Amino acid sequence: MMQSPLPLLDYDRVIVAWSGGKDSLACLLHLLSIGVPDSKIELWHHCVDGYNAPEVGEVERPLFDWACTVSYCKAVGKIFKIPVYLSWRSGGFEREALRENKATAPCYFQTPNGLKKAGGNSRKLGTRRRFPQLSDDLSVRWCSSSLKIDVCAIALRNDPRFEGKKAKTLFVSGERAEESPNRAKYPQVEIHRADPRKSRKSSSKGRVNRHIDHWRPILNWREVQVWNIIRKFRVNPHPAYRLGWSRVSCMLCIFGSPAMFASANKIAPGRTAKIGQYEKEFDSTVKPPDRNGNRETILELASKAKPFAMKQSDIKAALSTEWYEPIILPKEAWTLPAGAFGENAGPS
Ligand code: SF4
Repeated sequence: MMQSPLPLLDYDRVIVAWSGGKDSLACLLHLLSIGVPDSKIELWHHCVDGYNAPEVGEVERPLFDWACTVSYCKAVGKIFKIPVYLSWRSGGFEREALRENKATAPCYFQTPNGLKKAGGNSRKLGTRRRFPQLSDDLSVRWCSSSLKIDVCAIALRNDPRFEGKKAKTLFVSGERAEESPNRAKYPQVEIHRADPRKSRKSSSKGRVNRHIDHWRPILNWREVQVWNIIRKFRVNPHPAYRLGWSRVSCMLCIFGSPAMFASANKIAPGRTAKIGQYEKEFDSTVKPPDRNGNRETILELASKAKPFAMKQSDIKAALSTEWYEPIILPKEAWTLPAGAFGENAGPS
C-alpha cells in the first residue's frame, strides 16, 4: 500500500468524515485508489440541521444546510458499496442557536447495530441566542464544534465497536492547508480527540481502551488535485458546486460571501428571511461588524452582490430531498463545476 504514513491495513475500520463536499469525497476516492479495502470503510455524515428519525420522532429543522445533502451522501455510499452512518445533535442548528438557559441537546448516531443516543445529560445550563461567529475559536464558532466535531466524538466514545485492546480505528478528514493559515498548522497524523491517549486528564485506572488515529491525507493537496481525482472517478459533485458555491457544506455558511447570500436568497428566500428574523431577535447578525462597528444583515449583504448564473435543473437538484441524478457520470459528461476554484469562503 502506497502514499500513507500509517500502516493502513492494520486498522479494523476506516471512518471518513463525509460532508458531501469535494474534499471529503477526495479523501474517499484517495483511500480507494491506494487500496484500502472498501469493506473497512464507513462514511460518517453529521446532519447540521438535525434529522427526521422515525425511531425517535426527531424533526429536522431545515435552516442552514442543503436539502439534497443527506440523500447525495447516501447515494455516493451506495454506488461505492460503503455504509453511510448519519449522526446529529437533536434539533440541529436552529435548536442550538435558540438555546436559552438550557442544557445542550443529546446526540443521535446510526450504527450497524441500530440508532444510539448519548450526551445531553449535563446539568450545566447555557444560553446561545446568537449565530456562530467567524473565529478560529470553536467555542465562538460553535456550529463546527457543537454540530459536527462533538457529535462525532460522542459517537466514537459511545459505540462499543471502537473499544478493546485490539480494536484499531482510523478517522480520516479532508482539511487542506491551502484553505487557511489555521488549517496549514494542522498535523497530518495525530491521536483522535475521542482516544483516551489524547486526554491528559484521564487516569490510566479504569480508562476505556480505544485506539483511534486521525489522518488528514489531503492536507497538502492543492484544489486542482481534488478536482482531478473526482474527475478520474467521474463522480457527480454536490450540485452546490454547479450553482457556483466554492465550498460545501452549509448553503448559508457563516463564512458565505455576498454572492453566496444573494444566490441563496434567490433560490431559498424563506431561509434567508428566517435568518434575517433571528438576526433581529438576537440583535446580532450572522456576519461580524466591520472595522467601524457597523453590522450588515444577511439580506443587506445579499443585496450587495449579483446571484450566480444558476441553471433551473441544478437548483432543483440542490433543493430536493431526494437524489435522482447519476453519481457516476458517463465518460465525456464530467465537467468542472462553476464553483471550482472560486471564492475562498469557508472555515478558517
Ligand atoms: S459549513 Fe459553515 S455554517 Fe455550516 S457548520 Fe460549517 S462553519 Fe458552520
